[in-house]
Amino acid sequence: MEPFSSFTAIAGTLKATQETLRVALESRDLIKNAPLLQQLNAAQQNVFALNAQLFELQNQYLETAQDLAKLKQSAVERDRYALSEITKGVFALKFRGAPASVDGSHEGLAEPEHFICQPCLDGRGQKVVLQRVTDGWGSIALKCPSCNTELLTGEVIRTALGRSVDPGF
Ligand SMILES: [Zn+2]
Repeated sequence: MEPFSSFTAIAGTLKATQETLRVALESRDLIKNAPLLQQLNAAQQNVFALNAQLFELQNQYLETAQDLAKLKQSAVERDRYALSEITKGVFALKFRGAPASVDGSHEGLAEPEHFICQPCLDGRGQKVVLQRVTDGWGSIALKCPSCNTELLTGEVIRTALGRSVDPGF
């Protein structure tokens, strides 16, 4: 049901109910007026039904408002990152700088430079910061702790003997 047509219908029925009540209150012989009592009962039922409908519409409105706020927040969040080539043909989303909020006030804690996983963000809406790892050969990669994607950075760390070492970060 469309919320706006529902509100119009509710407003119309409430007006009709008010009119019935007005007539009933102005009637001097209410008890003896069976048709009027029936009308009143029907009007009361209408009010109950409309209350339930109104409650449901309010809930739908709140849910929609919450969904919209989430979408706005994720759009703002996505805007804080730009696709970046960390080495030839290897891409990740790079933090662009200042933190931002929905109202554009740029308030919040400053964050250090970092990369996040593009498939996780664009595919699942999940923001996962990539972690720097070294494989057994000394190649340094950025790894997503969620989907385990490893992006080689092109950097290699080796000792004088040719053995790889963990750089400790
Ligand atoms: Zn990922």
